[in-house]
Amino acid sequence: MAVSAQFYDGQTARMQVVNVTENGTSISFSGPETSYTNWTIKGLHAIDPAVDGQPYRLTHEDKPGARLIIRDQAFISALISKSSHLRGGYSARDIGHIIGWTVGGLAAVLVTGYLTMTLLPEKAAHMLPNAWKARVGKQMETAMVEGAKLCRSPKGDEALAAMIGNLAEGTPDLPPISVHIYDMNVLNAFAVSGGNIILTRELIDKADGPDELAGVLAHEIGHVAHLDPEAQLVRLTGLQVLTSVFTGSNGGDMTTNLAFLATVLKFTREAEAKADAYARETMIKARINPLALKTFFEKILKLEGDKKSGNAALTGLGGLFSTHPGTENRIKEIQPLPAGVVARPSLTDEQWKALKDICKG
Ligand SMILES: [Zn+2]
Repeated sequence: MAVSAQFYDGQTARMQVVNVTENGTSISFSGPETSYTNWTIKGLHAIDPAVDGQPYRLTHEDKPGARLIIRDQAFISALISKSSHLRGGYSARDIGHIIGWTVGGLAAVLVTGYLTMTLLPEKAAHMLPNAWKARVGKQMETAMVEGAKLCRSPKGDEALAAMIGNLAEGTPDLPPISVHIYDMNVLNAFAVSGGNIILTRELIDKADGPDELAGVLAHEIGHVAHLDPEAQLVRLTGLQVLTSVFTGSNGGDMTTNLAFLATVLKFTREAEAKADAYARETMIKARINPLALKTFFEKILKLEGDKKSGNAALTGLGGLFSTHPGTENRIKEIQPLPAGVVARPSLTDEQWKALKDICKG
């Protein structure tokens, strides 16, 4: 069975239409602009969890920047039934799939060392091995959530995956992310190393409608796409990051120290502006109303005013709302959808309810 799909080669932004077939242990595809390509099923990676009716995005270990987007439900189901790792989703998969130290990894470590000494943290961040980023991200996450419950429910997980899928419409190179919701009484959102994004229950409680949450999520995805947490780690620790990468150990005790984490997650104002721009662009391409991010930011400003008179909802670690002054300017930058573009909701009412209730599950 051959089905039509979209392919992005990871080098150019051009969408290529291809025909995909599955041949037992691999899939192959080609098209008018695409030469015959064969990807082993073993090396495939589902970028988001598979959700009925949502486009399904695949990449391959040999070509991590490339994206194959399939919409044929029968094909997707058949593929997933072959190999359960293609179901996609939570980080157990990501961690489980991390390939250990390879010759390539070691070379990357040496290059990283060179770059950290001589180049910008932003550049060095790109050279950190994925396994290290994921491991350190996991440590940061564990330290930050301080034993809070990870909220999951079948319907809530599905809604979250649908929101990510909707945001990815129009942005095929959305980076791989793992979004985790914790039952925390603090209004915040964080992107830590390795594509892990943490949202709190309080944040979801305070959001009026899914688009506000989608806006915050898109902002955090911006930090992931720009490797802001990784750059900040390199900036603040330099040699220690290198040493721990080199010895294969963790990021040192620092990544479990909350005071240090608060500093790591206090991104530069430039990084915040870029994450806002990313959120705006992603939402416009997905036809999700960007003004939702604006209303949410305004709400945060107001809550911050209350905080001065004793509202504790904003206490906690750096994160989304730590970069002041400047929030007013950030709000001003957010523009509505272009004229003539009709917004669509980032979730159905039913999905939004399931997501709101995810911590009750
Ligand atoms: Zn931010």
